[in-house]
Amino acid sequence: MTLDADIAVVGAGPAGCALAIRLTQLGWRVLLLERSSQPRRQSGQSLTPGVRLQLAQLGLDGMLRLCGARPAPRSRVRWQGVEAEDRLIPQDPPLLIDRGRFDGLLRGAAAGVGVRLLCPAVLIDRHPTPEGWILAIGDAAGERRVSVATLVDATGRAGLLARARTACGPATLALYADWQGPAFPDLPCIDTGPEHWAWGLPREDGLFSTLVFIDPDATPRRAGLEAFLRRLLAASPLLGDFAAATPVGPVRAVDATAYRADAVSGPGWIAVGDAAMALDPLSSSGVQKAIRTALAAAIVLNTRLRRPEAAALADRFYADDVRDGAEQHQRWTDGFFAAARQSVASPSDDAPSGRGTFWHRRSGRMAALPAAPPTPHSAVLYPDQPLTLAPTARLATTSCLVGDFVEERVALHHPALGRPVAWLAGVELAPLMSALPAVTNRRALIADWSITLGPQRAASLVGWLTGHDILQAACAER
Ligand SMILES: Cc1cc2nc3c(=O)[nH]c(=O)nc-3n(C[C@H](O)[C@H](O)[C@H](O)COP(=O)(O)OP(=O)(O)OC[C@H]3O[C@@H](n4cnc5c(N)ncnc54)[C@H](O)[C@@H]3O)c2cc1C
Repeated sequence: MTLDADIAVVGAGPAGCALAIRLTQLGWRVLLLERSSQPRRQSGQSLTPGVRLQLAQLGLDGMLRLCGARPAPRSRVRWQGVEAEDRLIPQDPPLLIDRGRFDGLLRGAAAGVGVRLLCPAVLIDRHPTPEGWILAIGDAAGERRVSVATLVDATGRAGLLARARTACGPATLALYADWQGPAFPDLPCIDTGPEHWAWGLPREDGLFSTLVFIDPDATPRRAGLEAFLRRLLAASPLLGDFAAATPVGPVRAVDATAYRADAVSGPGWIAVGDAAMALDPLSSSGVQKAIRTALAAAIVLNTRLRRPEAAALADRFYADDVRDGAEQHQRWTDGFFAAARQSVASPSDDAPSGRGTFWHRRSGRMAALPAAPPTPHSAVLYPDQPLTLAPTARLATTSCLVGDFVEERVALHHPALGRPVAWLAGVELAPLMSALPAVTNRRALIADWSITLGPQRAASLVGWLTGHDILQAACAER
């Protein structure tokens, strides 16, 4: 028996589902294979608010409500200082979710838009052909064959095609468990210890999920896991009373090392989500990043298949996008860990072993990365102060997402920008920048650009350019 499809996606986690949905919306016939009949039982997780926008982009506006997502504006953190502090994010706070339910709804949504979901199903065999792949798939209906143009690796950390990886941080193990007990905090908590950091999340069902991140070489044998975890948690004044708590189910250990695949695409294949890069869980943005790679990969595949002459451009765009995302995140985590190390471990703990090893391994690695773009600022410039284009700013062709395709566009390059920028808030920059007079001033520029953009957009564009030092004082003593 054969199946008909253009693209086969292996793995129905957030990345695989998001990619399958988007490709179907773009008119492709997609087969989505998932080996587990039920989404993995996972402890409580937190989502960054950007996921809301991504789901809206996929036409799944109501999904977070259906999933019972709860905003968590307040959290208790003991990270950089000795004292715990309550942190408030009143606008766009993180969302607490049941990951099993979230993944299950995404799978349902994929099937709902017309993705052919085979679950449970396994990829038994794959043969590359000049047109793509011939796959042998096993599911409840037996073994079936399908020929597809593209095979997508969305298998998460398991990895199917993108197996060679470079670590973006030290090897890290997560120990996790759900607890029942009389005294747990009713808000998410983050705490640090000499050899770990820990995360506690209250769940809707009254249980408390804990995740503790350690060096793998500090882990005891499986039989000792619960006692080990209990000891670490009990040392935290923030996370509650673990003497009186009982774990619900076994304590589990999973790899949580951040990495990036050495190649994220090749002839007839592409990797998305954790198969392409996995972030340090510190930012709780793994799901958002996984969906982001999936949305970009959908456009890359659409370009490859509809405009084969632009395939190399599309692949380059995707490789750069994944690399930049991983580097940006690594810089962020390195900064966080370095700050924590100062307070958690004493300055004399520079030895490669002993107390402070966990923090030692997680700090001081920033030199290995390309320099971070400078932070934008609010430049103090008078309205009539002469302005000129920075000598380091230039316009050059680059690949970008234009609608449903990857295309080349002239974009603005400058050291303060992580990546070249072709559009800003819907405004194409190249025509404006190439028509800039050698010397201008804020008042004149806003007046000039207001004619086509309106005064507000013109003012914010000028503010953005001066804030990034792309337009600077003409006689600048900077
Ligand atoms: C300890 C820990 C805590 C985390 N906490 C958070 C958090 O709070 N918030 C957050 O946003 N992110 C968190 N993350 C990261 C987040 O879980 C991942 O980034 C995200 O799940 C990646 O999505 P994905 O679709 O790429 O992979 P996955 O979610 O791993 O999905 C992969 C899917 O592929 C299937 N699969 C694998 N191999 C095969 C195969 N051969 N055939 C068929 N199917 C296969 C699997 O069954 C699975 O369903 C955490 C990660 C860790 C390790």
